[in-house]
Order: sequence, then structure tokens, then C-alpha cells
Amino acid sequence: MIKENILKIKEYLSNLHIDSQAIVVIAISKNRPIEQIKQAIEAGITDIGENKVQEAVSKYNAMRYALCGKPIRWHMVGHLQANKIKQAVKIFDLIHSVDTLRLAEEINKQAAKINKIQDILIEVNTSGETTKFGFKPEEAIAAVRQIAGLKNVNLKGLMTVAPIVDSPEQARPYFKLLRELREQINTLHITRYTLHILSMGMTDDFAAAIQEGANMLRLGRAIFEA
Ligand SMILES: *Cc1c(COP(=O)(O)O)cnc(C)c1O
Repeated sequence: MIKENILKIKEYLSNLHIDSQAIVVIAISKNRPIEQIKQAIEAGITDIGENKVQEAVSKYNAMRYALCGKPIRWHMVGHLQANKIKQAVKIFDLIHSVDTLRLAEEINKQAAKINKIQDILIEVNTSGETTKFGFKPEEAIAAVRQIAGLKNVNLKGLMTVAPIVDSPEQARPYFKLLRELREQINTLHITRYTLHILSMGMTDDFAAAIQEGANMLRLGRAIFEA
């Protein structure tokens, strides 16, 4: 089932009139057993996402030896608590959920201690829902300016979680807002380099996200459920 799901997603992407190679599919494996993650990797998944550091660390350790040398990239997509930053920096290739300046500064500090340049994204609360983490869109540019000055983090782009809606179309405005924000940051040269990544689109809304320029999809149910 997992294999069929992944083939279906790949086929969907390859039928789009865009460079589908440029879109990274992250399998969000929170609450899923290691056996299922292995199946996803066997079917061609190279990127794994988790939303809790503890769970990710135990899976990371358990799987390290089982991957037959396949290079898997680990993504942190959930809210990161202060007391988990040190562990997070040890295992994650990309932290999507940087939602305060303080968090970015602490990641920078912990990364410096282990001589790492930690790739990160800034999470933007594009819907303004109070249940969601992330910078307000109007705060994002100031945050980017400050975070771009930190030596041991490498800001690669933006991430958002759209509200739960009935159709992907209703999620589109939030994706559009994130894309426009990235364009604004790039045109104003807020960073010395161009921000490239737009991490947006989940099982129920990824079609609209792709149309608005997503280049990282975070898919859970679409991969692991029937
Ligand atoms: C769980 C989760 C996903 C995947 O959700 P699905 O709807 O199952 O695709 C994506 N992003 C984040 C931040 C998540 O927590």
C-alpha cells in the first residue's frame, strides 16, 4: 500500500507541467512504526519528517544501521521546545519550524558547539489562527533580517501549515501569501543569498500548494494510509 501510494504521488508529480524533480516529497512519519518508514524508503523516499524530537531520535538511532547506507535526510516539522534544541541539532538536516528569534538564536548556539551549520526554515502563520505557531507575515521580514546574521544557521526558506479546509482550493491564499513573502524577501535582498525553499502542502491540499510554487511537500496520510 505504501509503495502504491508513493508511486501514485510520483506519477501525479511527473504529469504536471513543471519540473517535478525539483519538488521534494517528505514522508511525515510521526506515530508510524519503523517498519512502515522502511517500506517508504524502499519505495524511493529519501526525506523523512517528524514532529517530536524524542520520537525522531529513537527512530533515527534504530534506523541508522538498517538503511544499507542509503542517505536519508531528516526534517523537523513540529514546534521545537527549548530543552530539545540540542538533540534536534544533532540529528536534523533541516528544521522547518523556527517560529521565534530566540529559537533561532539557541539553534545557532547549539550548532556552533558541534561545528555545524544548521539548515533552517522560518515558519510563518499565514492564516493567523491562534492555535498555530509561526511568525506573523508582517513580522517575517524583520525576523529574516536578524536570523540571516547568525553564523551557524543557514536560512533556506519559508514554511507554513494551512488551515484545515474542505477543498485544496481554499488553502491556496495561504500558499500564495508564503510565495509572495519569499519573493519580497528576495527582491528586497534581505539576505545575501536567495531564499529558495517553500515548504507547504500536506495530504489534503498539496495540489494547490504545488500550483503556488511549493518545492517541499510534507505528506503523511497520502503516503502511509489507504
Ligand atoms: C502531520 C503533519 C504533516 C502531514 O500531514 P498529512 O495531512 O497527514 O499529510 C505535515 N506537516 C506537519 C507540520 C505535520 O505535523
